[in-house]
Amino acid sequence: MLVNAYAAPSATEPLVPTTIRRRDVGPKDVLIEIRYAGICHSDIHLVRGEWGPVTYPQVVGHEIVGVVAEVGAEVTRHRVGDRVGVGCMVDSCRECENCRAGMEQYCLPGNTGTYASVDRDGTITQGGYSTHVVVVEDFVLKVPEAIPYEKAAPLLCAGITTYSPLAHWNAGPGTRVAVVGLGGLGHMAVKIAHAMGAEVTVLSQSLKKRDDGLALGADHYHATSDPATFEDLANTFDLIVNTVSAPLDLDAYLRLLRLDGTMVNVGAPPEAQALHAFTLFSNRRSVAGSGIGSIRETQEMLDFCAEHGIAPETELIAADHINQAYERVLASDVRYRFVIDVATLA
Ligand SMILES: [Zn+2]
Ligand SMILES: [Zn+2]
Repeated sequence: MLVNAYAAPSATEPLVPTTIRRRDVGPKDVLIEIRYAGICHSDIHLVRGEWGPVTYPQVVGHEIVGVVAEVGAEVTRHRVGDRVGVGCMVDSCRECENCRAGMEQYCLPGNTGTYASVDRDGTITQGGYSTHVVVVEDFVLKVPEAIPYEKAAPLLCAGITTYSPLAHWNAGPGTRVAVVGLGGLGHMAVKIAHAMGAEVTVLSQSLKKRDDGLALGADHYHATSDPATFEDLANTFDLIVNTVSAPLDLDAYLRLLRLDGTMVNVGAPPEAQALHAFTLFSNRRSVAGSGIGSIRETQEMLDFCAEHGIAPETELIAADHINQAYERVLASDVRYRFVIDVATLA
């Protein structure tokens, strides 16, 4: 099946309209007619070759929502017409210790990414900036009707990437959570942590987005450019969710953790970062990382967002604005996620 898509022809050229081939619908596959696709910062890093060599042309996009258009003969979980979503992975080995534990995001040989991964048939996976995609049913999520359709896509990466650590480290009533950075990930972390019942503080470079942060559900907002922030908030937080992908002074942030507090990183700075063991000894602090979330947890997150009326803040664009949107993402000029109206690709 040949379908319309927007692809990167190389690391340095703008994305262009093209067509790509999708595999035939196998017995366990679902064909999805894509309606909306979010633009994640990872898309930009990847197409520009910043995370390693890429086979071009490459279609990115791993925040996908659409409608089931066809199902294979053995599909039991989804029906034609269902409103569904696909996130950062489309398969895993299903045999390793982590897959068997229902943690396919941590598949030991590596899960199959929604784009730029080698699929079971040896082809390179192509992402959601496209009118259709074929995905094995186990990696397709149900998107509840209560979540506005055109806003749902960013939940599949930004939503789950922040929900998973918040749930794992028990954010909730009586816990103090700090969110570092108020971008695509950060704004979801604030909404979700607030809905979980935690006391939420945003730590942002400046106070420029303070009104937004408080409206999204933060209880407090502090500028990290102000040295007083690090004095006033010492020994305060149970959990710090760091969404920033630039290097930070880890010791300075770790000192904000109270007894048994954890700083979990979901942003990905390219360079290694230093920290002092002594900062960890005080208050028995931990530094951790978290990668997306499992399929079971992603469904739990979607249901949680539906129940609590949570949706990302989005700006809807036509496909021919993708390149401009990339420039604006890089300039932090988006509140808070671009979503492509895939009807403009048809
Ligand atoms: Zn992403
Ligand atoms: Zn596995």
